[in-house]
Amino acid sequence: MLQREENDRAVLDILSYVETVAPTDKDALDIFYQGLVAEGLAACACGSTQISRDDGERTFVCQRCRLKTWFTSSILLCKARRFKAYFAALLICEAGLEVTATRLATLTGIVSATGLSIQKKFNTAIGNQMPSDAPKISGKNLKAIIAKRTAITPVGKRPFAEQEEIDEQLLLEQELEEDAVLKQNGAIVVQDLDPKPVLALDNSLLDEFDTAKNVVWSKLSSIPVTIDKIFEETNIPVGRIAACLTTLEMEGRVEELPGSRFVKVAKSSAPEAATANPDLARSLALAAEGFVRNTIEYSHGVGRKSIQLKLAGWWCTSDRERWSAGSVMHLCLTHSPVSCRTIMNYVSPPMLSIMLC
Ligand SMILES: [Zn+2]
Repeated sequence: MLQREENDRAVLDILSYVETVAPTDKDALDIFYQGLVAEGLAACACGSTQISRDDGERTFVCQRCRLKTWFTSSILLCKARRFKAYFAALLICEAGLEVTATRLATLTGIVSATGLSIQKKFNTAIGNQMPSDAPKISGKNLKAIIAKRTAITPVGKRPFAEQEEIDEQLLLEQELEEDAVLKQNGAIVVQDLDPKPVLALDNSLLDEFDTAKNVVWSKLSSIPVTIDKIFEETNIPVGRIAACLTTLEMEGRVEELPGSRFVKVAKSSAPEAATANPDLARSLALAAEGFVRNTIEYSHGVGRKSIQLKLAGWWCTSDRERWSAGSVMHLCLTHSPVSCRTIMNYVSPPMLSIMLC
């Protein structure tokens, strides 16, 4: 992750580039069309690639059957008008940079709502590229940024209560499921955890994290202690302490008590299954920490409802191999349309997919 200043400067560089190559929406549309041609996707339904198009038009005409095709209608750019803003947003994504919707709007001369809609469309399409077996985390790990109340936040509760309800529900379902299995088989079935970790994290980063985790562990006992207290004693950044505690919690070694106080779990009551894959737990905690830090830096908080989209956007900024130059352009030209209604009605799944990169 770049420093904020560096990031913002690079975003401005991209904007001045856009100003040069695509000063108007029509110019930007021409660039998207050239992309379509380059990908070999500019063809008539009859199969002919003998087509003609006037600059700035959303249509091309087949030279063979004379059929007119609206080429934006079946792709992510469907119903788009602010092509220049779309183009700027995609270059920003492909460069792995961060920009808030409001800033994108200001820089490209559109209203904030459009800026937000462009980002959500991109993030929806990017999120759809996540493999279905991507590692999952509970929003519990993202507590620090689940900040905004949404329509599904229980009345009179803190925004995070939404996630707590989800977690309780999931736990209940899991227990019911286990009961059913028990009744059926008369024996405990231990599920084989197949985490398929995408462990591409830097080793030195992991070592550093382990050192911090050991220090945090050494500050814990059967007497509840707060993160602030651990910070006072260790000077480890608060976000890192939280990530270490999350990992220890996932390993079943630590328990969180009301008031965000933490204790060591007595050995006999520690669940066995949770220790099944400490490496994955650690990588997930680290990834969650990075995501939280990034979100606080650029947008402070996010609603539970759209947190999965935010995670997809973060994957795009952090996975420089998968989302390098040309990748988001390709998505714009090949992904099916994402309607405003879809975006408005979107609700993040109970367990959030996170990509480790
Ligand atoms: Zn044709």
